[in-house]
Amino acid sequence: MPHRTSEDQVQAWLACLAASLAARNIPDTLSLFQPDSHWRDLLSFTWSIVTLDGREEIATMLTARLFDTPPAGIALEPGTCRAADGVVEAWFGFETAQLRGRGHVRLKDGLCWTLFTAAVEIKGHEECAGARRPRGVAPGVQRGRPSWAEQRRDSVAALGATQQPDCLIIGGGQGGLALAARLNRLQVPTLVVDALPRPGDAWRRRYRSLCLHDPIWANHLPYMPFPDHWPVYISKDRMGDWLEAYADIMELHVWSSTRALKAAFDPASRRWNVEVEREGRLVTLHPRQLVLATGMSGAPALPHFPGAESFHGAQCHSSAYDSGAAYAGRKCVVIGSNNSAHDICADLWEHGAEVTMVQRSSTLVARAETLFRVITSRLFSEAALAAGITTEQADFMAASRPFAMVAELQRALYRQIRAEDAEFYDRLTKAGFMLDFGEDDTGLSIKYLRRGSGYYIDVGASELIASGAVALRSGVQVTRLRPEGVELSDGAVLQADLIVHATGYEPMESWIAQLISPEVAAQVGHVWGLGSGTRLDPGPWVGELRNMWKPTGQDGLWLMGGNLQQVRFYSRILALQIQARALGLATPVHDPKGLG
Ligand SMILES: Cc1cc2nc3c(=O)[nH]c(=O)nc-3n(C[C@H](O)[C@H](O)[C@H](O)COP(=O)(O)OP(=O)(O)OC[C@H]3O[C@@H](n4cnc5c(N)ncnc54)[C@H](O)[C@@H]3O)c2cc1C
Repeated sequence: MPHRTSEDQVQAWLACLAASLAARNIPDTLSLFQPDSHWRDLLSFTWSIVTLDGREEIATMLTARLFDTPPAGIALEPGTCRAADGVVEAWFGFETAQLRGRGHVRLKDGLCWTLFTAAVEIKGHEECAGARRPRGVAPGVQRGRPSWAEQRRDSVAALGATQQPDCLIIGGGQGGLALAARLNRLQVPTLVVDALPRPGDAWRRRYRSLCLHDPIWANHLPYMPFPDHWPVYISKDRMGDWLEAYADIMELHVWSSTRALKAAFDPASRRWNVEVEREGRLVTLHPRQLVLATGMSGAPALPHFPGAESFHGAQCHSSAYDSGAAYAGRKCVVIGSNNSAHDICADLWEHGAEVTMVQRSSTLVARAETLFRVITSRLFSEAALAAGITTEQADFMAASRPFAMVAELQRALYRQIRAEDAEFYDRLTKAGFMLDFGEDDTGLSIKYLRRGSGYYIDVGASELIASGAVALRSGVQVTRLRPEGVELSDGAVLQADLIVHATGYEPMESWIAQLISPEVAAQVGHVWGLGSGTRLDPGPWVGELRNMWKPTGQDGLWLMGGNLQQVRFYSRILALQIQARALGLATPVHDPKGLG
């Protein structure tokens, strides 16, 4: 028998998949999958973001959806086949009646171990870009024709006044702006409102020393990559300016200084009534789709310590901290031990303050350099680019792995990180710092996906703690504030001129309850987290980030956010769902684990 190459294997498997799906033959389709396989689908079959675990869940989905969506044109992407460690993988293209998509398969022993299918565009309604770009000028000559500037001015004046937006996005940070840019190219009338005076202010108003913690290659926004002379770690003011420029260049409709006050869905008109205060004036908007892009947390979580009013110094939540300039030579206590707490300690120390961090429970720390070398650079780096992994391809590669598998992979990488940085961790522990690597040692990204907190990406503050330059009180609670400072559970009192509460944020659900209603918040349920059953991520296992970028329990309500990499990739997925509804396409959702 002639030797079968990896490519032959994938070709043969894809041909069987195509034939069994075209014949709507579910038993034959299932026979192509390993019993413990995973199928991650982004819209193409489920009109949601869903991971199906095992043959039974795959069978249920196919029974529900295959009749409408038999795919066609399944074709291997040339040159994408790889084989390693007994796994053969490759990328392929496909179409359904409505969508064009991209897929990825991993085969083990000739059967599918993981399948990934993602919608890329709606057929006949593709982005107005490249060959589809508008002409810009009408042919010939015409009296009184409006200039681009006049058209833009009129369109800005009309949206939200004489024309209702189809989609209203509350929050014009990176999430809101990236989604608006996608929707703009899909010609869905979209308005962004943000409480702050200028796009980018959410970054600008943070403490002055802040730089992004992820390297630049992971942080590009859709369509407009950062210039390639920009530094690896971007300062927050530069990021703020970039977002403002982005809103302008992508011709977005943004109402700044506009705070959303309340929202209610009217089932009769199938539109929202959203009350906003725009520069002091109340305006009610009536979009069909409402997106909350207000950051994945609710309001700052400020613990109410007894005696808080008696404290003689200054105190603030980390979100209101600006700079340590006024605290040279003065005593400062930072309560908390995650990202913001560390950065604020470092900023205060740089300004000559005498700083103490109070750590209540363990924190995951990973050095930015090591994270980059061991994990991020595989997909996002100059080396990855040189190896032909574009930003778009890196995003697809990251998405192709079901979250259940990511945890296993990360555990192995964290074993390597802990070995490489053993001396660093040893010094930190000797200084009294309580460390963890996630409940099951699966590391930072998994902790981020499960609970969005509980870690620090070390860009320098850990050294200050290890060396004692920043004092540390760990394993203690704050029992009360006194006029002179902070009283701890071991009876010690830390003298303070400034107390910073780096105590995190309320969950997103609380903000939904406040803006819309407690009933809708309950209907939507927990936001973020995979259902891992670990702390702050209650089970059952969902396998996808709850309620993120996909249909929620409330009609017409969507949640947008995440880090820049997620924002770049999932803004397309969310935009396609909103576009499909604007076009009036059928969008039957199959998400039994997500929607319950
Ligand atoms: C030290 C540090 C380093 C970080 N480094 C990175 C990094 O490298 N990469 C990364 O991706 N992330 C990083 N982050 C996380 C980053 O802050 C978030 O990823 C990002 O802010 C999320 O963007 P967003 O658009 O979802 O929300 P936000 O940026 O929080 O924007 C939300 C917007 O909603 C507006 N808003 C809120 N309520 C209302 C209302 N009622 N009406 C109108 N508008 C409202 C706010 O004004 C704000 O502009 C870092 C964070 C810290 C603290």
